[in-house]
Amino acid sequence: MNKSDKIPGIKGGPSWVMFWLIGGAVLGSSEIIANAFLNRFPLVFGFFVSSPFWGITLNYSIYISLYIVTALVAGILAELSRRIFKAGYSVHIFAGLALLCALIAYLGHGIEASDLGKVLPPAGISETYRPFSLWLWFGAGAILFLASGSMIIKVFRRMTFRTAGYWLVPVALGAVLFNIFDRSSGPWPFRLILFGIVVLVSVGVGGVLARLRPRLGPIIIGIFTAALLAVSLQGIYYGWPGKDYDSHLILMVWDAQRADTMSVYNDDFSTTPNLESWRDHMIIFRQAYSPANYTFASHVSILTGRYLREHHLYDGTESDRASYGLFENMADTMIGRGYRPLFMVENPWVMVLKKGFKEAVNCPTHVAAEGHFLPFYRNPFLGIQLFDHLTFLLDGPFKYTVLRIEDRVLTSWLLRARREGPYYLFFNWMYAHSRYYPGCNPEKDGFAEGYNKGTEFMDLRLKGWIDSFKKARQFSRSLFLITSDHGELLGEWEMYGHAKTLLEPVLHVPLILFGKPVTPEVIKTPVPVVSLKESIEALVPSAPGQPWHVKGFIDTMLHNRGTVVEGSFDFEGPDNGIRWFLACWEGNNKYMQDPHEYIPGHSKGLDMESFYFYYDLDSDPGEKNNQARHRPQEVLRMQEAISQWESRLDVVPLPPPDEGDEDEYPPGLLKQLRALGYMR
Ligand SMILES: [Zn+2]
Repeated sequence: MNKSDKIPGIKGGPSWVMFWLIGGAVLGSSEIIANAFLNRFPLVFGFFVSSPFWGITLNYSIYISLYIVTALVAGILAELSRRIFKAGYSVHIFAGLALLCALIAYLGHGIEASDLGKVLPPAGISETYRPFSLWLWFGAGAILFLASGSMIIKVFRRMTFRTAGYWLVPVALGAVLFNIFDRSSGPWPFRLILFGIVVLVSVGVGGVLARLRPRLGPIIIGIFTAALLAVSLQGIYYGWPGKDYDSHLILMVWDAQRADTMSVYNDDFSTTPNLESWRDHMIIFRQAYSPANYTFASHVSILTGRYLREHHLYDGTESDRASYGLFENMADTMIGRGYRPLFMVENPWVMVLKKGFKEAVNCPTHVAAEGHFLPFYRNPFLGIQLFDHLTFLLDGPFKYTVLRIEDRVLTSWLLRARREGPYYLFFNWMYAHSRYYPGCNPEKDGFAEGYNKGTEFMDLRLKGWIDSFKKARQFSRSLFLITSDHGELLGEWEMYGHAKTLLEPVLHVPLILFGKPVTPEVIKTPVPVVSLKESIEALVPSAPGQPWHVKGFIDTMLHNRGTVVEGSFDFEGPDNGIRWFLACWEGNNKYMQDPHEYIPGHSKGLDMESFYFYYDLDSDPGEKNNQARHRPQEVLRMQEAISQWESRLDVVPLPPPDEGDEDEYPPGLLKQLRALGYMR
């Protein structure tokens, strides 16, 4: 043994540099190899989205460099303190050990904060769960450091950088591997068992290595070669030319977006300039109506093509989720046509509906997201995980980190498209709903102003994503659909929000189909968004690569089963018949029956005037002048149209009433919904 690399030896010279350099590179490379077995590559930035090969290899290089630079910085700091305190080279080994203990403490916090036993990973943390602070875990890490440090001191005289490496490297690898496999290991006891196995195996490997004392050079070269091979193979696999992978269908639900505040619908606004720039390649439905006046029931209708009475799913409870599983939805349809359905939503309520989608990502976007990072987000690449967590904590009320995570998910899908595309992408954005945008200040920004800024921001995000599709050369054959699950009252009738009334502000939503293959058309006939599934089935060719049937989409949308919107409420009328809370349109005439008191001062009691509403939206867009009494013939005609619509419904029986309330929801959902302003 070379005496010079013994720790107490001052002549240790530059070997501390190698200790850190090789340590960082071995750790990063091993992580890349292990993830490659699960078909994952590190994505730091969305570079070279046009070339999967260069995109993957360049991101790999950046990722491994981050590891090496971080390790070298730690090494330089350790060396500086060694010189200041005139200590031995063992300082480096103790610094390495301290970092390792901190890493284990962080992972421990991660297990606890995203306890899979109490949490459905997409749904998030449970109501009663309060994870210990990260600092408590770091305290535990410090104790671990002192305990293992004192053991090292005992074997101090025989310890060298090399023999320290025999122990430190396997344990560090164990931590990295645990981070990868922990995410899919299920409930709490299994994760602990996994953690125990990882610790035992790592320490065991360290013991064997320390006994055999192999030469480290060949092992290190082997690890680097394997990592290089893993990255090249993935680059070649995803970069190999594909066929018809690039004609994606993207359905975006801009949650709570009403049509008449978008400048693409209304010249008085300037909220959607980027969307407007596609006017020459756009089919715009001027009068589209959401399936319901609130999120959950409406999304069920959008995804299943069923009216409310055809699904009766109103709350997102566990029983609703089970029932939803029995319906065919758009994901099933699109798989049948050769598309891979992918789901990325910002509304946890919508996450309940991910059935059938091949991947489902939930990104929470609301101001009070501090404690929600780990439960929502675990990255199998530890470096990215730590980097994101750090920037998340540094972000102000608006979480740019979450945007970056979403962009990265999209980029990784685009990089994989040649093998896995074409895609059917379902997105839900919450920016207008939550008044959440860069610089948002809920106290200062007014209700309507914040809402419009949210819309502006979604328009900007849309441009960014379109650019990503363009860079990936997967834009020109793709189609984008933008709609909403409901609108929003911004002070009309002195009401705010949604889930009340069936007035135009809460039902009139955008419905826009655009993309290079589209020739422009403006459609003024009222259409129901509930027909979207059927219309998408008409739009999508029987096999990817064939032309879109845009005309089929329009025709199916126009020949719908009825432009009728239901609230989720029924009411027993004076004749003991059920009166549904619903609205119906014919041209610019609107009929509404409202058995509740949803229009203040107008729907009290049960007389003709307050129960039935008939508006001419052309001359009375604000729905102020109820003409039901003066136009009984028209009211009757609308009622007949509704009866006909009802006779064609594929009605399912009302589910039995839920017993209890909160327990019925998936774990953690209520907390997240409240953070978003629901259910207060
Ligand atoms: Zn909504």
